Amino acid sequence: MSVTECLTCDRPSPSGFLCTKCIAVLRGSLESVPFYMPALREAVARQVQFGPQAGGSHGRPLVFNVDASNLLAELTSYLTGVAGAVADRAGEPVRFLSAVAAARYLLGKVDRLNTFRGIGELHVVLGGHVADVVKLVDVPVQPIYLGVCGATSCADDVPSGPCDAVLWASPTETTTRCKVCGASHAVETRKAEITDRVWVHLQDRVMTATDAADALLAAGLITGDPARVVDKIRKLARSTPSPIPGADPTPARLTPRLYRTVLGHARPAYRVGDVLELLTKTSRKTKTGA
Ligand SMILES: [Zn+2]
Ligand SMILES: [Zn+2]
Repeated sequence: MSVTECLTCDRPSPSGFLCTKCIAVLRGSLESVPFYMPALREAVARQVQFGPQAGGSHGRPLVFNVDASNLLAELTSYLTGVAGAVADRAGEPVRFLSAVAAARYLLGKVDRLNTFRGIGELHVVLGGHVADVVKLVDVPVQPIYLGVCGATSCADDVPSGPCDAVLWASPTETTTRCKVCGASHAVETRKAEITDRVWVHLQDRVMTATDAADALLAAGLITGDPARVVDKIRKLARSTPSPIPGADPTPARLTPRLYRTVLGHARPAYRVGDVLELLTKTSRKTKTGA
């Protein structure tokens, strides 16, 4: 191939129509589609309810005024169209029903696509759409708290104490590097360690259904709508143990450990460990019994 200059930025481009930097940007655009799609759908719903000026995720008014539903339709039809054409050309009988499926497919073909001139248009058009989506959905990047670094280093042969810098990771990172000492940490491992540590303190606490639900959700030990979780916990407290003797050695009923007075009313309080055990047991039962 005689391509030497990138189609979109004039940098040297020895391996295709786009240079390595533009290819990286294109990959990033494709990778961001699954991430932004739920937020874009939410923006569509909000605009249907409140009109195009409806605020961002925190109710702030947006200065940027585009029609979310048009953007969603354009992005979906563009990506499914391109992916469909690429699949046709490759002789693969795939139909793409969503922007996410199309983006994932194209992501796997980026290197091959770089031998086609059309990749320049894909890069520019998709980049423009993604920029519009970012402005529209106004997604705040929520960093993940990973606790204190704690790494020990022996710089200049002088052993130092554990690093006390607090670690944060972005939602897309799988490993993160400490900004102070440079030690790298696996995000999933750190998250699991924090959950374990929280659990040690949490499991023997006695709380009302509402507080237990809040604590379990905040610790990431369960997921779901807070009101529904509270409802489930209350149902567990009302349910009676299995009538079949020996069928289940642990009682299927949540029993209060004490009563707390909340706004003048005595509310039953449960051991958080019992709550989690019964919640996971019943959700397993409903899943497998469905
Ligand atoms: Zn380039
Ligand atoms: Zn550190």
